[in-house]
Amino acid sequence: MPFPQWTDQHRAFRDSVRRFTQDEIRPNAERWQMEGYFPDDLFRKAGKLGFLGIRFDPEWGGSGLDYWYTVILVEELVKGRDLGCVVGLLVQCEMATSVIHDHGSDELRRDWLLPAISGEKIIALGVTEPGGGSDVASLRTTAKLDGGDYVIRGAKTFISNGTRADFITLAVRTGGPGPDGVSLLVCPTDMDGFSVSKRLKKIDLHSSDTAELFFDDVRVPERFLIGKEGSGFHYIMGSFQGERLVLATMANALCRDLLDDTLAYLEERKAFGKTIASMQIWRHRMADLMTELEASELLAYRAADQLVSGDPEAEVGVSMAKLYAAELARRLILDCGQAFGGYGFMEECYVARCTRGVQNWGIGAGTSEIMREIISKRRMGSRRP
Ligand SMILES: Cc1cc2nc3c(=O)[nH]c(=O)nc-3n(C[C@H](O)[C@H](O)[C@H](O)COP(=O)(O)OP(=O)(O)OC[C@H]3O[C@@H](n4cnc5c(N)ncnc54)[C@H](O)[C@@H]3O)c2cc1C
Repeated sequence: MPFPQWTDQHRAFRDSVRRFTQDEIRPNAERWQMEGYFPDDLFRKAGKLGFLGIRFDPEWGGSGLDYWYTVILVEELVKGRDLGCVVGLLVQCEMATSVIHDHGSDELRRDWLLPAISGEKIIALGVTEPGGGSDVASLRTTAKLDGGDYVIRGAKTFISNGTRADFITLAVRTGGPGPDGVSLLVCPTDMDGFSVSKRLKKIDLHSSDTAELFFDDVRVPERFLIGKEGSGFHYIMGSFQGERLVLATMANALCRDLLDDTLAYLEERKAFGKTIASMQIWRHRMADLMTELEASELLAYRAADQLVSGDPEAEVGVSMAKLYAAELARRLILDCGQAFGGYGFMEECYVARCTRGVQNWGIGAGTSEIMREIISKRRMGSRRP
């Protein structure tokens, strides 16, 4: 593919993630999913190799690289075939940490970001609440100042890394209603009043722990505020760009992996005396999927280019990339499953296992409906209701 222009440095980085994936994830993937767990040590191993702070300032333990390296990281990790552990790692290196890096005080960066980048401490991102996730500006968990502490009361749900996190980047309401009442706090999980109320049972991504969390007058010092009070909503929206592109890249990488498996199977499998790959309906279906996947990859690469160059159109580019990749994944995974016939319903078949996760692609980090809202507001501003 002529775009992007990968350099030798990109290729060396890709080789290093590939080795990590092949040595540490792939051989354990099925077991971790069956056991519903991957070891905490994986965070430390990824941290040692510099995978958890790719874009962060070297002063805070990061590698000072750009978003293209995050794209490579995601593309290679997905090949480990345990998306649950990929989600856990990506929350750590991208979703929960970037706001601390970009807006936190030096003390927060030293005490919380540095150990997250090294993998010594595990982090979660707490935004979604039992009452809703899409409408972040309406969140209800409160944090009231009292004698130099914020006192947190409320609940969060669907929180990845939620049962094992040492601390949470937590979205709370410190002011009145609406987006300007939202702030972000670092909330350690060993504080009185914090509890994991439930480890949630998912239909896929079994190795990632997903939890409902409860905050019963949890006190955290005022200095644990990330950036300015009342700016949390805007910080979250800013960091959503990287997060959404991570998910678009994950979806594309998974589609590429599944399509490769499916093409190989169609070449080998015979019916009525000829290979399935020789049948026109399958040739055309595969041709459509290959074309759409290249379109999806190019949209995601364009969005990465926009993020790296600081293009003001990045938000709409990222939303388009996420929407397209998520909706393609939902169709492609099921079409590939169909190509495998009965094997496409068997646990041993990776494509079959992935059909369980189809629903998730249009949900995490902003649903497909929310992506359409963003795109239409940006491109049809004057005509919105
Ligand atoms: C596996 C997994 C891991 C997750 N990890 C985390 C995590 O680590 N941290 C975290 O904070 N959250 C996490 N989430 C939560 C996720 O971000 C939310 O599920 C998502 O934002 C949607 O919120 P909701 O589920 O409350 O749906 P709702 O907001 O209740 O939406 C319900 C439906 O209504 C639609 N809808 C909402 N608003 C509109 C609108 N304006 N126009 C049209 N349709 C609309 C939605 O698209 C959706 O189809 C995770 C979710 C999953 C499944």
